[in-house]
Amino acid sequence: MSRVHNFCAGPAALPRAVLERAASEMLDWHGSGMSFMELSHRSAEVVGVAEEAEAALRRLLGISDDFAVLFAQGGASTQFAAVPLNLGGASRQFDYLNSGQWSRKAMKEAQRFGSVHEVAASSGKPVSVPGPDTWQRSDDAAYLHYTPNETIDGVELHEVPESSAPLVADMSSTILSRPIDIDAFDVIYAGAQKNIGPAGLTLLIVRRELYGRSLEYCPAMLNWQALDEANSMLNTPPTYSNYLAGLVFAWLEELGGLGAMAQRNRAKAEKLYGAIDGSEFYGNPVAPEFRSWMNVPFTLADAELDRTFLAEAEAQGLMNLKGHRSVGGMRASIYNATGMDAVDALVGFMQEFERRNG
Ligand code: PMP
Repeated sequence: MSRVHNFCAGPAALPRAVLERAASEMLDWHGSGMSFMELSHRSAEVVGVAEEAEAALRRLLGISDDFAVLFAQGGASTQFAAVPLNLGGASRQFDYLNSGQWSRKAMKEAQRFGSVHEVAASSGKPVSVPGPDTWQRSDDAAYLHYTPNETIDGVELHEVPESSAPLVADMSSTILSRPIDIDAFDVIYAGAQKNIGPAGLTLLIVRRELYGRSLEYCPAMLNWQALDEANSMLNTPPTYSNYLAGLVFAWLEELGGLGAMAQRNRAKAEKLYGAIDGSEFYGNPVAPEFRSWMNVPFTLADAELDRTFLAEAEAQGLMNLKGHRSVGGMRASIYNATGMDAVDALVGFMQEFERRNG
């Protein structure tokens, strides 16, 4: 059976070993005579798998008990509202760094609940982000929100900004790509469908000290403290997605954890950006210090060739390279499960395409 190289921004490629394990367990999970998704979410088996997934994630990221690890639903987009709903009790002033399209979506949603203040914005060609020391911060912000990796724009902040207000990060497209210092953050959230597992699951890492700041009309399903007290089971959770996320965490641990993953990811990104920079034919719109390790947008010298590039790439099993509809061009997402073999195949194809069309 052949598998293509999948460069989709999300839902993204999953590790082959994880899919094989899930396939082998599909009809009869651990002698239960049922698939995992048919088991009661309150059964000891399902609760045990959720607990092990959480424990593995805590080991991988070094998460202490000061933080809750929550498995929620509704995607990262639901957290755009949940963040002000859970923290807006402290102040209705919300600070946001605007580093790209996902930042702006988060800001738009937060406007429903208070006053959104942009501390700084990315700009320029190539795109860069002003340094944190220049950000115009509010005195009484309930929190400072930023998006460490902008999936569409391919812009990544490689340093964690300091903040006196609680620091909230949308890590949807960068979490688990490398080690991070959890203690430097207060709230981290991420949709699962890139580095965690299948869509349908949303990961939250929340400093418990922040409980008690929710707005009175925060729905129970969006309330982090309520979710924590119910062990992420306020209602029927997406058990199968949770089980697959657990298999992904185990796969990461087997590969040596996030330090090892960071080395792989850095090497992949360097190879792809190197190929782009080494050619007159391809270009990347982001200043080198803000380039994403996970999402690499690139353009062809002649946009008329985009369709041919995509068609020929697909014919060679290089899938989902079309850039986001709002920016055009190409985008290669190279998350954890997309290995160096995929990057090698892509770079080889790009060089060969340039020879024929450059
Ligand atoms: N934030 C970022 C950085 C994203 O990349 C995405 C999805 N691509 C989202 C938020 C929205 O995630 P979801 O579809 O899970 O709501």
